[in-house]
Amino acid sequence: MDIKPNLKLTASPFHRGEQAIQERLGVREQMERFGSRVIRDHMPQQHRDFYQQLPFIFVGHGDKGGWPWASILFNKPGFIQSPDDQSLHLNTQPVVGDPLLKAMNGNTKLGLLGIELETRRRNRLAAHITGATDKQIQLSIDQSFGNCPQYIQNREYEFIDPNSMPKSSVEPLTELDLSAQLLIANSDTFFVASFVNNDINSDSSNADSSDASIGADVSHRGGKPGFIRVDNNKSLTIPDYLGNNHFNTLGNFVENPKAGLLFIDFDKGHILTLTGRVEILWQSEDSQYFTGAERLWTFHLEQGYRLNHSLPLRWKLNEFSPNTLMTGTWAEAVQQQAQQRQLESHQAQRHDYQVVKIVDESSLIKSFYLQPAGGLKALPKFNFTAGQFLTIKVPTTLRNTVNGKDVIRTYTISSAPADPLLRISVKRETSADSAHKGLVSHYLHDNIKLGHIVQLKAPKGDFVFDAGEQRPAVLLAGGVGITPMISMARHAMFEAVRTRSLRPITVIAAAKNAQQRAFFDEFKQLNAQTEGGIRTFWALSKPESDLKPGKDYHHQGRINKDLLQALLPIDDYDFYLCGPSAFMQSMYDLLRELGISNERIKAEEFGPASLTRQHDASSVEFTAIPSASAAVIEFSQTQVEQAWTAEEGTLLEFAENHGLTPEFGCRSGQCGACKTKLLAGKVSYQTEVSADLRDDEVLLCCAVPAAIDGEEVVHIKLEM
Ligand SMILES: Cc1cc2nc3c(=O)[nH]c(=O)nc-3n(C[C@H](O)[C@H](O)[C@H](O)COP(=O)(O)OP(=O)(O)OC[C@H]3O[C@@H](n4cnc5c(N)ncnc54)[C@H](O)[C@@H]3O)c2cc1C
Repeated sequence: MDIKPNLKLTASPFHRGEQAIQERLGVREQMERFGSRVIRDHMPQQHRDFYQQLPFIFVGHGDKGGWPWASILFNKPGFIQSPDDQSLHLNTQPVVGDPLLKAMNGNTKLGLLGIELETRRRNRLAAHITGATDKQIQLSIDQSFGNCPQYIQNREYEFIDPNSMPKSSVEPLTELDLSAQLLIANSDTFFVASFVNNDINSDSSNADSSDASIGADVSHRGGKPGFIRVDNNKSLTIPDYLGNNHFNTLGNFVENPKAGLLFIDFDKGHILTLTGRVEILWQSEDSQYFTGAERLWTFHLEQGYRLNHSLPLRWKLNEFSPNTLMTGTWAEAVQQQAQQRQLESHQAQRHDYQVVKIVDESSLIKSFYLQPAGGLKALPKFNFTAGQFLTIKVPTTLRNTVNGKDVIRTYTISSAPADPLLRISVKRETSADSAHKGLVSHYLHDNIKLGHIVQLKAPKGDFVFDAGEQRPAVLLAGGVGITPMISMARHAMFEAVRTRSLRPITVIAAAKNAQQRAFFDEFKQLNAQTEGGIRTFWALSKPESDLKPGKDYHHQGRINKDLLQALLPIDDYDFYLCGPSAFMQSMYDLLRELGISNERIKAEEFGPASLTRQHDASSVEFTAIPSASAAVIEFSQTQVEQAWTAEEGTLLEFAENHGLTPEFGCRSGQCGACKTKLLAGKVSYQTEVSADLRDDEVLLCCAVPAAIDGEEVVHIKLEM
């Protein structure tokens, strides 16, 4: 999608390309507030001291044709002097062959990056040349700001005796030869220059040529070796990771889609400097498999130089940045894509998972940690979204006890997508009169031991949590309904580490007593890890007498209006409900009474009872379309056709009565476990369903064949 810069330049520290991207990504206002505080027109003393101790500095500029180039300037520490807080003198000159040599004249706009690889500190400048001799470059500062150490690998430098170096040479390049490709493909660091020429790119109505934010920029880019893909001898594809939301580089690309790239051979002192066209790939399938990639951009070489033996500096890699370690490589992305394809093609089948850990979470709830049988190398762990459930099929021995039918149940995954193992947490179910034991929950509690194999089917479900959303979330859990909530909270914490932004969460959990509640310590830990960003309050109906109110629990009795009002300051929240049906209905009714709109309340049922929703005035009332009185139902996989009449109930009941064992969960149209592909025909829902459905999908648990005018017996074909 094209970006249409439509923002008028004001006194903003960001130019319109940067503003357009900030706008697109929803951070515009926040960045404007933040930017005007951290971007200065002078260097604070700390930055002046910093620049004066550096042995090298990176520079970006645009040549006469508007092509950006990135360069390195170096000399012994102290070569940079700061006579005042708006000036720097650099006692050096560009190396032979560096295109920057031709730009050493007054008013050339430069972007500068001072970076200390061994401490991972960096600061940035926008400046212009006020004077240049063959010994000194004098700069006046337009903008100055600090940068965080993300993705900077820790490296130590040393100067070597220039006399011991082979003679330097300049090789012009119009394509990337093998040695350039190898250097790029193995790089963990490079520098990117970008350049906006205000005169060329702005129309006079919204341009301000005195605006200091317009000019050149140079930025650091770091990743694991292999993070840059060499597509061919002219093109590269580069992931864009989460950064400071300034979008200096990408903002310049929007205005002038060109980049200068600088690669340094840290072992041999060669420089590879390239310039070319860029394209931002906002949405690309490739980026989905590249861990950490928010988007991609491509670079197409226009011109370049290899400056052999030009640096009397050598660097030793000490360690990768922790942020870099959380990102991927192209080789991993290819592998992930292949594994995903493999998984997708196996989606319809079950997979053997081994129980590798069992933990008693409470007197009633046990967690089972699962990994693919044969280890993660044999098959990757299922991908899932926090809040989803998987289906589990129990072994044949148990199946034989239930009339030879498969026994399948659904369990929410209580781990987060980023956790190494899948975890389900199962409550031992017993009927209210204690006479009947839940079949699968008891089987899992009593029979499943470490090393046992269970059969799982890929996770699904629409009760999912978006950790990237800014709106605070309230998770209301009753009893074992805590399982999706712990997954969501863990996921939010992992995402906060990755993105440095936490979606605030308040968990309000109800249980009978401390014995029965699960994940008390885990939630406490999440609270500590997020410094209160994920807070949990416990309402116990019958707390043990030795518990300390305020510490061990927060409220005695049921969750009520007063408690919600006391815990939740007035704000705009998304609510998530999960628990026994009476709990869900009372929480839902309470929230509606408090004025929360139906759309803001997501709910997951663990059983057949269905939540009765009151619709918002603005939403359309549900009306069932007429159902057929007779139909022929065709099951495509078994190639069986059966006659259906209205007395035979929903498609799920009908399928079960004919010996099929489709998956199901809530049986009330909410969880989506029984979603099946509709290959022909039309269905009618007798009650409103809340699971998301595509046009070619049906929820078997609530659907019956729909009447079609003029057809006495309608035809339905299902993929099962
Ligand atoms: C989307 C979804 C997610 C879920 N996630 C979880 C989760 O994370 N953790 C979890 O513990 N559960 C979860 N469940 C519930 C789970 O799927 C099972 O329904 C639950 O474990 C009970 O299964 P069971 O085989 O033990 O009981 P069943 O044998 O199916 O019996 C169900 C209930 O009926 C009672 N009962 C059985 N026979 C009789 C009888 N003859 N008369 C009277 N009462 C009887 C049992 O005691 C039990 O309470 C989820 C369900 C859904 C739909």
